[in-house]
Amino acid sequence: MKGFRSMFLVTVIASVAVSVRSEEIAMQTPSSTATAAISASWMKESTTKLQHELTAKYGAQQQPRLDRGLGQVAEFWRADDGDQAAFEEFVRTNFAGDQATLDTMFSRFQTLLEQLDGHMHEINREFNQQSDLDAGPVLPFDEVFAGYDPSAHVLDDFFSNKLAFTLLLNFPLTTLDERLKNGPAWSRRQWAEARLTQRFDKRIPADVNLAIAQAAAESGQYIAQYNIWMYHLVDAQGQRIFPPKMRLLSHWNLRDEIKADYSDSQNGLAKQRMIQQVMERIVTQTIPQVVIDNPNVDWNPYTNDVKPAAAKDSDKPAPESMQISNAPEPDTRYATLLKTFNAARKADPYSPTAPTLIARRFDEDREIPEARVKAMLEQVLSSPLVPQVAKLIQTRLGRPLDPFDVWYNGFRPGSQYTEAQLDEMVAKKYPTAAAYQKDIPNLLIKLGFAPDRAQYVANNIIVDPARGSGHAMGSQMRSEKAHLRTRVEKTGMNYKAFNIAVHEMGHNVEQTFSLNDNDYTLLQGVPNTAFTEALAFVFQGHDLELLGLPAPDAKSQAERILNDFWATFEIAGVGLVDMGVWHWMYDHPQATPKQLDQATVQIAKNIWNQYYTPVFNRKDVVLLGIYSHMIDSFLYLPDYPMGHMIAFQIEEQMKKSGSIGPEFERMAKMGRISPDLWMERATGRPVGPEALLEAAKRALSATR
Ligand SMILES: [Zn+2]
Repeated sequence: MKGFRSMFLVTVIASVAVSVRSEEIAMQTPSSTATAAISASWMKESTTKLQHELTAKYGAQQQPRLDRGLGQVAEFWRADDGDQAAFEEFVRTNFAGDQATLDTMFSRFQTLLEQLDGHMHEINREFNQQSDLDAGPVLPFDEVFAGYDPSAHVLDDFFSNKLAFTLLLNFPLTTLDERLKNGPAWSRRQWAEARLTQRFDKRIPADVNLAIAQAAAESGQYIAQYNIWMYHLVDAQGQRIFPPKMRLLSHWNLRDEIKADYSDSQNGLAKQRMIQQVMERIVTQTIPQVVIDNPNVDWNPYTNDVKPAAAKDSDKPAPESMQISNAPEPDTRYATLLKTFNAARKADPYSPTAPTLIARRFDEDREIPEARVKAMLEQVLSSPLVPQVAKLIQTRLGRPLDPFDVWYNGFRPGSQYTEAQLDEMVAKKYPTAAAYQKDIPNLLIKLGFAPDRAQYVANNIIVDPARGSGHAMGSQMRSEKAHLRTRVEKTGMNYKAFNIAVHEMGHNVEQTFSLNDNDYTLLQGVPNTAFTEALAFVFQGHDLELLGLPAPDAKSQAERILNDFWATFEIAGVGLVDMGVWHWMYDHPQATPKQLDQATVQIAKNIWNQYYTPVFNRKDVVLLGIYSHMIDSFLYLPDYPMGHMIAFQIEEQMKKSGSIGPEFERMAKMGRISPDLWMERATGRPVGPEALLEAAKRALSATR
């Protein structure tokens, strides 16, 4: 059911953990060949009979609708849905033979499905509360609640009570091709009708949905506990270069620490190289099992030596029967990924028009064909701007590039402040989640929203303290509010958390406008995930101004554009690795975790060697495989580089219009039409990397 698609907990490229929620995945993995047309001899006869009978009753002008509707119902009707008499009775009773009845049916379904989606989402949010919020230990049964999806049977129920058939009898099913070709000429109502029937274009069994939801929850849990205790990393001299109590979640916090370490002139480089070493051991699964989320051992990630901790910085107890050894994590990372693959694959037989998760992700979720996305990523990766920007970074660093410099952050205009200075400012301003909540109207006014609109949106957002680094959870009905989950330490919010909160707030604002201010709730949301990320990036890009620091000047803006260009260069490769790994799994469905480990390492190396080696002069680097999304997010990563491209398109438009607030609102209210159509109406051009590349080119010449 596509109505659930925008309930994903959207994530920030900079730092957020949770991404795709089980219910979203379950709802997006469609269909049923078990529903293939029953070849009952009576079906054709009944259809012909009903065509004549109902055309005579309602008039010839209803005939095209009737023919289409009968075809659509026949396609999904199974023997256990009823015999010939039941089929005919159903059609006679439920065909809306005039416009007034059809309009009533449309609006009543819209209203009631909003209630269904909204309340299911509400239950899901509550059941995930203990896992999502900073609210004490997660007990085993909490994980079961989090893995449970009360909406898993809805699709089945709607086919058995025939409400799905009622829609299929009266409203058109469309293909991606039709939506791309005819969509530009459609009315808003036609788009809403297309989204309405899309919810029922598959008939997937509930047990398959449940298996997918469980795999998603389990992999999420694996990722959420993958911490590295940094004080316990030691070098050859036994030196500790990270501070006590520093616990970093892979990969988000590790990567962000690399970024932060550029401002540590003393130990920065040593820290960055050590983190790279840790990441590589995670990807290759040579990391000792015992060092994962365990402050009771010291670890030299270069030699891989493990010893009992010689210093204590945490009360976290040692794992029971802890064996001090460097026995590697036994490919759990790839076993976990394989579990998500095997769960996702269960839906394939029920999805004849998109028979792989890859096809469902691109054709149905993104609504941009995979080949087109791949071409856009490659266009960025092979841009002649890449070596030029790399050279500039090298000059600034005064040393040859290290592989971890894919996360170079020296282009940030905010780098004039140290992380510590920013942390202090943020902690003072936001000692609690409630303090952030209270400030939302002011933040929105600073972004150009009129005071009444700012207050209106703020009233629709609830801020909760997050267990992870933060996420946004929109609502699915107008009577519910969006939730902003943010990480607040005992010492107050830090800058990283603020940066993420601003991003997530962007999601919440989009969620609010696209649900509450849309002419059709059926069109709530955005065309695909990249769009909501793009809109969130717009907010995130202004985080320093929201702290009351100076707006970036032209030079700073050029810096930021180069930063985004470099980030897109980095994440485009990560996206290609994610795509490559899913293709490999489909090509090798019987693979063992060990084989998947080796394949992933090879794919990461290949992409690196093709696009990164030319500027880094280093071969066979595996860093592109470190993203946690690869393990628990079902081919989500290509959305990030798409997000950057789309963000540039949107941002250029915001600049033209002069103010973020009203333009953001105009765009968010368009809702979930097709990606290219949305973008054309928002900016005058279809989706593509050109805006990013042009901006980067201008920025590069402004920097010289
Ligand atoms: Zn996001």
